[in-house]
Amino acid sequence: MQDTYNAFLSTVEIPSSAKGVLSGIRVAVKDNISTKDIPTTCASKILTGYIPPYDAHAVELLKAAGATIAGKTNMDEFGMGTTTENSAFGPALNPRDTSRVTGGSSGGSAAAVAGGLVSMALGSDTGGSIRCPASYCGIVGLKPSYGRVSRYGLIAYANSFEQIGPMAANVTDTAKLFSVIAGHDRRDSTSVAKPYDFAGLHAEIKGKVIGVPKEYFGEGVDKDVAASVEKSIQKLEELGAVTREVSLPSMQYALAAYYVTCTCEASSNLDRFDGVRYGPEPEMNLPWHDAYTKVRAAGFGPEVRRRILLGTFALSAGYYGKYYVKAQHAKQLIRRDFLRVLTDCDILAGPTMPNVAPKLGEMTANPLQMYQTDILTVPINIAGIPAISVPCGTAHGMPVGLQLMGRMFGEEALLNAALAFE
Ligand code: GLN
Repeated sequence: MQDTYNAFLSTVEIPSSAKGVLSGIRVAVKDNISTKDIPTTCASKILTGYIPPYDAHAVELLKAAGATIAGKTNMDEFGMGTTTENSAFGPALNPRDTSRVTGGSSGGSAAAVAGGLVSMALGSDTGGSIRCPASYCGIVGLKPSYGRVSRYGLIAYANSFEQIGPMAANVTDTAKLFSVIAGHDRRDSTSVAKPYDFAGLHAEIKGKVIGVPKEYFGEGVDKDVAASVEKSIQKLEELGAVTREVSLPSMQYALAAYYVTCTCEASSNLDRFDGVRYGPEPEMNLPWHDAYTKVRAAGFGPEVRRRILLGTFALSAGYYGKYYVKAQHAKQLIRRDFLRVLTDCDILAGPTMPNVAPKLGEMTANPLQMYQTDILTVPINIAGIPAISVPCGTAHGMPVGLQLMGRMFGEEALLNAALAFE
């Protein structure tokens, strides 16, 4: 396999002997999802040489369904980023225009699918990491409801937000991959005990009430992207959906609530990379603190270090109530907004990203500007609900993603609507 997009961090070709719905299908797996006997680095130098002794639940299910694991895909280090430029192993390139980023953090998975190297891939989505690269590369990506797919074996970044999910070139393949990985797993205490019965995909949009949140077309959304999404919403109406404008007033707090919470969780989740439990062996002749600092300073890239520092600060005595607790309150408001509008509406629709894929290097100088591009994806992770990004046209010559957001555990309605639209 010729990987001209730097989509893969390692390639393998491990066919499964099991027979199932994925028999003969090659699936790429994001490199923060544990794969037995295959290196798993989270695109971080600190995990160089780490080979997990077990498979993530989602990978066990892939193998049981007959899939061939085709390799591990490039990503922003530990999932922290929106362009895949925070990989310690260089950025993945967007197959639609290799001078542009893939989006992130599951950029390698998106490039592998969009570049035709595999037909399906697993990504993970903490604040948009499946939907953003799906949108930028012109493929389909689904962030499942929180608790729908087991996080067992997913190397945690911000565990209260993240889910493993499917990415593919079309809705049918996305649904197929999702039906394999969804379901209960007792090894993840947040995995829901609800069985996942997928009745089968069928195009269905007629009569559905689709809410269009006005905040999804606010400041910062590129005019041409908005126009392309508005045209798609008209198409949904032509297909028989009823649309209405809705409002999510607490969305203004979403970015702050997300970035406070995810950095706090990251500072705690990443403490295991200390050179003793994980990471390169520390110099034993140094005092403990110096040895530990040396391993972490050399192993983590700048964005990961920034987030550990921010999270540690926000959780420290005197600041905890001001930042972490406040963020939890804001999250409740956001969740309530989504629940309220989703009682009257079956689905919400808006852009996935406020822009098209930026040029390589355009976002790296300014992390705050990069965080802002997550404005339309992070509210979904805060609410815990499912959302899918489907290609819906182009702006500035690059793909645009339509984001359909659904009720808790309403993946089936989203997939059926997405199929009708496709
Ligand atoms: N861009 C967001 C972040 O940097 C989301 C990343 C993700 O979903 N893993 O945290």
